[in-house]
Amino acid sequence: MYCGAEVDFVDIDPKTYNLSVSALATQLAIAAEREALPKIIIPVHFAGQSCDMSAIGKLAQQYGFQVIEDAAHGIGGRYRDRPIGCCEFSDLTVFSFHPVKIITTAEGGMVLTSRKDLYEKLIRLRSHGITRDSRFMQGETDGPWYYQQMELGYHYRITDLQAALGASQMNRLDSFVNRRHELVERYNIGLKDLPLSTPYQNPDTYPSWHLYVIRLELDRIQYTHREVFEALRSAQIGVNLHYIPVHTQPYYQNLGFKWGQFPESEQYYREAISLPLYSGLTNEKQDRIMSTLGEILQ
Ligand SMILES: *Cc1c(COP(=O)(O)O)cnc(C)c1O
Repeated sequence: MYCGAEVDFVDIDPKTYNLSVSALATQLAIAAEREALPKIIIPVHFAGQSCDMSAIGKLAQQYGFQVIEDAAHGIGGRYRDRPIGCCEFSDLTVFSFHPVKIITTAEGGMVLTSRKDLYEKLIRLRSHGITRDSRFMQGETDGPWYYQQMELGYHYRITDLQAALGASQMNRLDSFVNRRHELVERYNIGLKDLPLSTPYQNPDTYPSWHLYVIRLELDRIQYTHREVFEALRSAQIGVNLHYIPVHTQPYYQNLGFKWGQFPESEQYYREAISLPLYSGLTNEKQDRIMSTLGEILQ
């Protein structure tokens, strides 16, 4: 919207909670008839599990849109044995290094691309639209001091201190993601007999498991979703809810989006709870989370 674009949403896949490729295909077919095709699609790799990028890439070729992967949850994850961020089926991939994410630089993020033209443009935009490379200038260079401002850029440079933190965090990325996999496996086993569903893993993916989301089977539970959530919080368990469907936020309601428009995301919202998951979580603490949840749901 900052770029003057209009925004639309696509419902989620009820298994992976990622963008539903079939819903996307339906919306694209309708948009094609109306001659209102999107220029850009932004799939989010929810919980660090890659979207079905090969299918999205095929639709991109068919309908001529570009793809920006939102990999804020996805660093360290893989899709068909290649790392999220390699841009095999996309133009750009963006990451967040906010403190809640898998690795952090306190604030900031990263964008990756394998397109040379976008790479060069990003380098300029990062620093006020200025270039010191004579290949991108108008006319000749005046001398070694010379630079030109080619477009309206930004000050989007990460600081050296943050970059140093990020570089050291990158060395620990694999150990962070491995520990998350151990904890996910323990949750999957420990929770399997409770009235809830545990995260589905698409065999094409190796998720980074930024989040561990359970869905309550409310017809098998005597409490409401909110009561279960509040009982966990009362027991000092740091549960959360990722996320409230974006189209229900007042800002988007004011733009005309309505409850009922993306039913899978709304059903998800009525049942989902994110359990604590971070690489420093101990087995003992995780056992207490699981036994508390078991007591509430029994
Ligand atoms: C955190 C997050 C963002 C935003 O990242 P910032 O670094 O705060 O800009 C975007 N998308 C998803 C899916 C996120 O989790």
